[in-house]
Amino acid sequence: MAKYIFVTGGVVSGLGKGITASSLGVLLKASGLKVFMQKFDPYLNVDPGTMSPYQHGEVYVTADGAETDLDLGHYERFIDENLTRDSNITSGLIYKNVIEKERRGDYEGQTVQVVPHITNEIKNKVYSAAEKSGADVIITEIGGTVGDIESLPFIEAIRQVKMEQGGKNVIFMHVSLVPYIAASQEAKTKPTQHSVRELLSLGIQPDIVVARTEHHLEESVIDKIALFCNISSKHVLVAADAKTIYDVPLKLYEQNAQHVVSDLLNLNITKTDMGAWENFLSKIDCSAKEITIKLVGKYIELPDAYLSVSESLRIAGFENGVRIKIDWIKADDVTADNVDEILKDAMAILVPGGFGERGFEGKILAVQYAREHKIPFLGICFGMQAAVVEYARNVCGISDANSSELKTTNNPLIDIIEGKAKDDALGGTLRLGNYKATLQPGTLAAELYQQTEVLERHRHRYEFNNKYREQLETAGMIFSGIYEKENLVEIIELKDHPFFIASQYHPEFTSRPNKPNPLFNGFIKAAITKNQNS
Ligand code: GLN
Repeated sequence: MAKYIFVTGGVVSGLGKGITASSLGVLLKASGLKVFMQKFDPYLNVDPGTMSPYQHGEVYVTADGAETDLDLGHYERFIDENLTRDSNITSGLIYKNVIEKERRGDYEGQTVQVVPHITNEIKNKVYSAAEKSGADVIITEIGGTVGDIESLPFIEAIRQVKMEQGGKNVIFMHVSLVPYIAASQEAKTKPTQHSVRELLSLGIQPDIVVARTEHHLEESVIDKIALFCNISSKHVLVAADAKTIYDVPLKLYEQNAQHVVSDLLNLNITKTDMGAWENFLSKIDCSAKEITIKLVGKYIELPDAYLSVSESLRIAGFENGVRIKIDWIKADDVTADNVDEILKDAMAILVPGGFGERGFEGKILAVQYAREHKIPFLGICFGMQAAVVEYARNVCGISDANSSELKTTNNPLIDIIEGKAKDDALGGTLRLGNYKATLQPGTLAAELYQQTEVLERHRHRYEFNNKYREQLETAGMIFSGIYEKENLVEIIELKDHPFFIASQYHPEFTSRPNKPNPLFNGFIKAAITKNQNS
């Protein structure tokens, strides 16, 4: 039977609840338990797929093709498990399911209400995740902050889960802010007291309080939190600001979080082996040489829009003993007049995924610069499409080459594939999730992956137009990865270049600590080599 840990947030959002929840996942997994994670998001979008990256940051894609919250990327990177569409549940999805049932007549004439119908649907999502994953522990994070109107049905549902499953099977962990007032040099517990009072008024007594602080907390402050929150001081964990997010699991381990949870849930944890995690941390060397990656993207004002890309770069950096600095370049600032100035000392250039016309020409210029100046280049999704259009225009002389997403052109190098009419709905209609690429022997792709077939995750509507394959091939472009079932291009690369590769899929979703995705690993290695030689 599964055990359940529900993680709520207090006082303010952006506390790193997802990191705290994932860190606990790391400890439980290192204790030999099978862990599954879930996030409940209280907004009404059915999934974050239709939300602007400026609103919500990156859309993380699971292997089974769900478009999810970026916290799932943290979950997967921390607990090193592939999660599923059961892992991100929004209010929109819950309401959609309930309304569909109502329309079908499933409720047999009942008045359909928030309690019990919405709350039952939420509980079903918790229980079905437990059943399908077969995990020992399900960690469920409730998005937002306790007290928000829109999260009330979730809070009520998890209260009911504890009633149904019993005290030894369900715990509540509340992550709350303990602000530090510099003038009086004091950590203040009052906001946390208030948010726990709010939780209590909703019928939830937290079992563990995680105090998010800037500095370490005095014993007396911890005792005070414990006293006002009705828990023992041992159950107050401190999550002080850490050097990197990857330090948090160890900080919790040092405070015996695994035993606190084990006692509360009767998990009988005897040993927690943090060896692999410590090995990963040992690679994070702040004095290491720095490699700067020029990332030319559309949404760079909000680095969260590229969270998995930047984490993948960092993880590959740790693996290769370098520190990664990202130089964020706004694609629509790049023009033919300034491209030399902007990219002249680039160690490596990355063009990530994106949608829409703005900035596309700047990306094309960045690709051209990388190609002509032999600077290591990695293109991702829209970045691969830009690389193809650039090659068609500047090497094959197809001057009006473009993507039909952006312009009506006689030469749509990137197009909607015949037979796949453009669905008018925006949500959930892309090529999503895992597809298999067969790698051509002797190519850079095959060398990087050391495999002949790879499964990688997708999120795009447009594809390389095969009508142009021969022409580009003759001109020197290598199509090194193909989804054979539908003959779709997955990877392109160039020879006579130290490192030029781009994929239609998103390699950033599969990098994990100690295991950077091979494209990122190769890219960083090439950047290091280039930097040594120049
Ligand atoms: N806009 C492109 C498409 O839909 C690329 C999408 C992406 O980069 N994720 O095909």
